[in-house]
Amino acid sequence: MSKTGGCQCGSIKYELTGTPKMLYICHCKDCQKQSSSAFGMSLRVDPHDIAFIQGEDRLKTWDTRGEDGGLKRCVFCPDCGTRIIHGSDNPDEVISIKAGSLDDTSWLDPGAHIWLRSAQPWVAIDRDQYRCFDREPED
Ligand SMILES: [Zn+2]
Ligand SMILES: [Zn+2]
Repeated sequence: MSKTGGCQCGSIKYELTGTPKMLYICHCKDCQKQSSSAFGMSLRVDPHDIAFIQGEDRLKTWDTRGEDGGLKRCVFCPDCGTRIIHGSDNPDEVISIKAGSLDDTSWLDPGAHIWLRSAQPWVAIDRDQYRCFDREPED
């Protein structure tokens, strides 16, 4: 079954054509700022496993540096600002789909919570159920 997603205004639509590797929930300050919320959701997929159905030529990018100093390429809808992808400047590197942009999010199943040292104190996480890291895990 294919999984589709897109931005808030509907300009950008995509389809996941492969199986995601893993979903992690990131509580770092960057993800809080980017999402204007409590945490970010990153669904790790092979870059060849996302196909744009609509609006690929409209996507805008903005480059920043991650906690590790590496280049982070942020891909978003220029009309409504929805962040779709976090990647790098290497087109073959695994990317993160911002999982809240999926049309159906009911199947999402986090594998880990990271950067818990900056998590909102009221975000309750079952530490027996999820792999938890105070910072970025080594792997
Ligand atoms: Zn949009
Ligand atoms: Zn983060």
